[in-house]
Amino acid sequence: MSEKQSVKMNVEDLQFFESLLIARRREIVAAQNNDKGSGIFQNQGEQSVESSSFSNHLADVASDLTSLETNFDLAAREGKYLVYVEEALQRIKNGSFGVCKVCNSLIPKARLEAVPTATKCVNCKEETKKKEKEDNRIEMARAFAEQQRRNR
Ligand SMILES: [Zn+2]
Repeated sequence: MSEKQSVKMNVEDLQFFESLLIARRREIVAAQNNDKGSGIFQNQGEQSVESSSFSNHLADVASDLTSLETNFDLAAREGKYLVYVEEALQRIKNGSFGVCKVCNSLIPKARLEAVPTATKCVNCKEETKKKEKEDNRIEMARAFAEQQRRNR
């Protein structure tokens, strides 16, 4: 009866992923220290060229804003990733690591080796992504309508 609650990854695997995550954390911290001189905002010239192909899909009204936002996004994502790694290490300690938080089944090891911070199995992740995409689309449509209204 309580079987659903007791889904757990075995100890060897937990240890394997623990060292993997610790190595990952070390890499991020080292990369952040190296980046201090050439901060994300000093790279803006390059960044906007890189992101321009993808801003083309958006209304050009917001193209400058978009490249700036992309930089903010990148910085946020890097910081966030470190948080995800910390959380994953926390989950290893309490034994919930490697268990999908949506359907409560074990996440395949191959997936965890690729994405050790994953908290969902591929199926549940896909579901979430679909929903997020819809939310983004609604958000974009709203922003665009707002922009049109202001231009009038
Ligand atoms: Zn799942």
